[in-house]
Amino acid sequence: MGEDTIFHRIMRREIPADVVYEDDDMIAFRDISPQAPVHVLFVPKKTIRGLDAAGDEDAELLGRLALAAAAYARREGFAAKGYRIVMNCNEDGGQTVFQMHLHLLAGAPLGSFGTP
Ligand code: AMP
Repeated sequence: MGEDTIFHRIMRREIPADVVYEDDDMIAFRDISPQAPVHVLFVPKKTIRGLDAAGDEDAELLGRLALAAAAYARREGFAAKGYRIVMNCNEDGGQTVFQMHLHLLAGAPLGSFGTP
């Protein structure tokens, strides 16, 4: 059995979130603590702890997450300006919610990242 995270509670509508997109495979909502003017999280409905727990069977789902983020960026009009997608994995990656998710960051020039 998978872990029950805050993102599962958002998916069950037990706690509110600013949902910007949803389909059979995923939900996307605004990050509660935005690190850029646009900061949206794309979360699969399938319980997967993080990228390290994903398998070959999740390849299509991972592709769908990235493509949904790209489609959102085009719809919202900032694709040409640019954006960043990030997945944090486990402790050193800075993962704090252990349900896999992709961050979409945009709306301003983004600084360097990855430094300790
Ligand atoms: P990570 O550190 O990659 O696991 O990202 C978890 C993200 O979830 C952080 O950017 C948090 O700000 C965000 N977050 C935590 N709780 C909520 C919430 N209730 N609604 C929206 N975003 C949240």
